[in-house]
Amino acid sequence: MIASTLIDSLESAVAARAMLPAEGGLPGDCSKADLLHLYRRSADPAFASGLFDIAARLRDRHLGRNPWWSAGISAVTACELEELCTYCTFFSRKAASAENIVAAARAIAGLGIRHLHLSGGTRLPVDGEPADGYDRRMIELVTAIREAVDVEIEVNVGPSLTRSGVRALKDLGVSAVTSSLEVLDAELFARFKPSDSLSARIRLLEFCEEERMPIRSMMLVGLGETDENRIEHLLFLRRFSMLGHLRLSRYMPFPGAAAGGVRCSPWPLVRLTAVARLLCPTLDLGLAAGNDPDDLALWWLAGGGNQVLGASASMKDPRGKAGGEARAIPVGERTVVHDNMPRISRYLGELGLTAVFAPPRSTPRTC
Ligand code: SF4
Repeated sequence: MIASTLIDSLESAVAARAMLPAEGGLPGDCSKADLLHLYRRSADPAFASGLFDIAARLRDRHLGRNPWWSAGISAVTACELEELCTYCTFFSRKAASAENIVAAARAIAGLGIRHLHLSGGTRLPVDGEPADGYDRRMIELVTAIREAVDVEIEVNVGPSLTRSGVRALKDLGVSAVTSSLEVLDAELFARFKPSDSLSARIRLLEFCEEERMPIRSMMLVGLGETDENRIEHLLFLRRFSMLGHLRLSRYMPFPGAAAGGVRCSPWPLVRLTAVARLLCPTLDLGLAAGNDPDDLALWWLAGGGNQVLGASASMKDPRGKAGGEARAIPVGERTVVHDNMPRISRYLGELGLTAVFAPPRSTPRTC
């Protein structure tokens, strides 16, 4: 059993459902051992409920109680990795056309949503050559969307951007770049992402940090990583002052994926959400792949928030995957926008919450 002043005061705070001694969350020098202890301790539902209560109050204090809408357009770039990541079924070997992407952005803006992620597959910039990965492609796409609609744009094309690409996207007003490590353990990364590059993903985080570009990252929970790996991953990301958004994916063996395995339960993911909230109170903590709207209630109770995905564009399969209740809006021969706002609004409404359209102004990080 680990005994430290931090753990003692945290245990007392959780027992009393009091706020943490440090109003901004855990102190900056909290150790890996303390965090690991906290995470493991939260496996006990009685402890977790007190922890979630503190985490949710920190979220309310720093981010407020209004979820806000975002939307995603996928397959904006082809995945050119030789061997695909073994859990991935959402890759596309062919990018959607700029025309369809702009049409999807228009349809999403027509729903009132003011914030958009453009995501796609990877083309690794080649070291030592003037190869620019997807810099040019993303600059052209962002410019085309900017000319058509007034929305905030984020970009997620894996480790496919160079430093000058990040700089150019920042100049175009892109509000964040994603670099998802998924799993920080090098052996697991190599096993599940054989042609991908962990170091290129870390390098992109560093480019963003140095260019003062806001960062969004993702962590895949349930791939086989240990509790220690998860805590190390959180601590690693915490060093990036530009990190504004962390999304947690819940491992799901999608049909047809080579990785196999079993679906991660929601419990480790929401416990990690609560620990991340205590560590970084002002971080937007979101739900990514493998979660669905049924996970929203537990996520919110554990201190998750505040971005929610209200719509997504399916660029390669007009039938889409958005689920029965989503309203399908055709915008091209192979492009459909799925409006999931009615279902999510209903779920949020049952929690007494109302999602808003305006993305929040960026909050200074307190971790
Ligand atoms: S980089 Fe991996 S996860 Fe991303 S689209 Fe390509 S195969 Fe899928």
